[in-house]
Amino acid sequence: MNECLFCKIVAKEIPAEIVYESGRTLAFRDTNPQAPTHVLVIPKGHHPTAAALADADDGLADDVLKTAHAVAVQEGVADGGYRIVFNTGPGAGQTIFHVHAHVLGGRDLTWPPG
Ligand code: 5GP
Ligand code: ZN
Repeated sequence: MNECLFCKIVAKEIPAEIVYESGRTLAFRDTNPQAPTHVLVIPKGHHPTAAALADADDGLADDVLKTAHAVAVQEGVADGGYRIVFNTGPGAGQTIFHVHAHVLGGRDLTWPPG
């Protein structure tokens, strides 16, 4: 049985506020938002990290990036500026090992991040 939280969201076994969906991607609001717009974009298939997503080598990473931008446009944050973040590995704060892009916007975003 698949115990991955985000696979369960894809399978609709647990609820999420889905804001965008494409053939191979899903976007839903983060339950602990760090900005007025904070959406997570995932491939529907299970890939643990950004490195695994890149290695998928079938345009899937492109799909995730395109969905992230589509979400920013839909949320009205694309013009003002937004951030796409992949926390990759425990040292970078990755806690859920189903790769996800954080799409953050709607406030001033400082650089570098903490
Ligand atoms: P990470 O720390 O792995 O980069 O990001 C995981 C994100 O998933 C966190 O921002 C956290 O708030 C979010 N999260 C954790 N559990 C859930 C959940 O059940 N549903 C949703 N929508 N987001 C979650
Ligand atoms: Zn998964």
